[in-house]
Amino acid sequence: MPRSGAYLVSDLPADQLCRIACRKCDRRGAYRRDTLAARFGADAVLPDVLARLAACSRRGDFSNPCGAVWIDAPGHTPKSQAALLAAVEAGRKARARENPAG
Ligand SMILES: [Zn+2]
Repeated sequence: MPRSGAYLVSDLPADQLCRIACRKCDRRGAYRRDTLAARFGADAVLPDVLARLAACSRRGDFSNPCGAVWIDAPGHTPKSQAALLAAVEAGRKARARENPAG
């Protein structure tokens, strides 16, 4: 349950990998709740953990910030997860068009 408006590491499901992905770069990852709890603390808020995990080059760029999102997090539905994955994929395809060699 959210405390002070944000979910915590301890709110993540214990029995699955929790995926993150960025819409603006190729950063992706999957983490176990217990690993995140050991690293950041069980009471760390998910937006802060995401920012530290993503470590995106856009992290401090407020005009074009990092697009990292939790794919698997409390409150997400299969439909919202599909929308997030579609946005990540659309971003990947747009980057491929802009930079065919990369
Ligand atoms: Zn990023």
